[in-house]
Amino acid sequence: MNGGHQSTAEKLICDEMLGSLSRWLRLAGYDVLYLRDMNDDEVIRAAVDEGRSVLTRDRELSRRLGERSITIMALTLDDQLEELSRIINTSESAGYPARCTICNGVLKAIGKDDLSKENEKMIPPRVLEIRDLYYKCETCDHFYWRGTHIKGIKERLSRYGMVFSLPDPEQNIL
Ligand SMILES: [Zn+2]
Repeated sequence: MNGGHQSTAEKLICDEMLGSLSRWLRLAGYDVLYLRDMNDDEVIRAAVDEGRSVLTRDRELSRRLGERSITIMALTLDDQLEELSRIINTSESAGYPARCTICNGVLKAIGKDDLSKENEKMIPPRVLEIRDLYYKCETCDHFYWRGTHIKGIKERLSRYGMVFSLPDPEQNIL
């Protein structure tokens, strides 16, 4: 997975024009930083330090990034996903569980019985009644659960060769 080939860009940066795209790529399992209010030097440093490719429409930034640049010119989310899927092999993300769309943190499966009282306050009571499995962001503590929107997420990502998956509860058992 870490062969360094340009087509296996699991670690990405989205520039500030691409916030929506960054959230959808996190759903597909990509490790995506969304950088705002940073100058080009700072973006380039983050890309080099962390071995990330940068999705950007900024030609000057793109030129300076060289091989680390992935130019995205499309304006709408679907067109951007389509454009990206023609540049990188998006199926490479298959098997990587979705990350937190808010902060890019890693999600961990947590059973209802293992929720603390604090955790339960983060989840609507109507959801607690019907769901036994939750996904907690290890960075920002946001909770996720399987909802009706999952079908739409799966279908949209699959159109661009990407796979939506959630962390396997089995992997949490030490
Ligand atoms: Zn988070």
